Amino acid sequence: MSTQTLKNAIRNISNFPIDGIEFKDITTLFQSPERLQELSDTMYEMYKDKGITKVVGIESRGFFMGPAIAIRLNAGFAPIRKPGKLPFDVLEESYTKEYGVDTIQIHADALDKDDVVLLHDDLLATGGTMVAAYNLVKKLGVKKVYLNFLIELEDLGARKLFPEDVEVESILKFDI
Ligand code: AMP
Repeated sequence: MSTQTLKNAIRNISNFPIDGIEFKDITTLFQSPERLQELSDTMYEMYKDKGITKVVGIESRGFFMGPAIAIRLNAGFAPIRKPGKLPFDVLEESYTKEYGVDTIQIHADALDKDDVVLLHDDLLATGGTMVAAYNLVKKLGVKKVYLNFLIELEDLGARKLFPEDVEVESILKFDI
């Protein structure tokens, strides 16, 4: 199945959730078992030889493919969540969005120094969310971090926000 077939299955919703945003709706991509299989196979091929021990998914759309690829890679899974959702001790990181500040949290015992982490989210736009998530994961002193997105909005240039030695992969690239 071609990448273009996968891209064509994403539904664009204009002005959602606020005016001016062209929202990439991945629920239509996930509707078909063949497309899900293709996504899973593509991600597996990217990371099967990297020694990934934990996949970390960002709430909430990082929770779709995150655990799915963790199972394929024989890795564990840990969630990064919004404040007030995780019941045990947490570490947190705040970042500035267009309007106001957002905070994300991870359980303090979710990862350790021996972990090789695949940090996954559905989409890279301005990069604020993933930079905060990357900083959060680094606070737990892991061995290595790989960054993965289903979708990258390339024109926003957010991949340059990450250190050069960090591998950033996206499966479906769009201009905006
Ligand atoms: P950012 O922090 O700007 O890179 O935004 C990334 C986060 O916001 C991801 O968790 C996405 O789920 C969501 N997001 C941002 N822009 C879009 C968009 N155009 N379509 C769908 N989700 C988006």
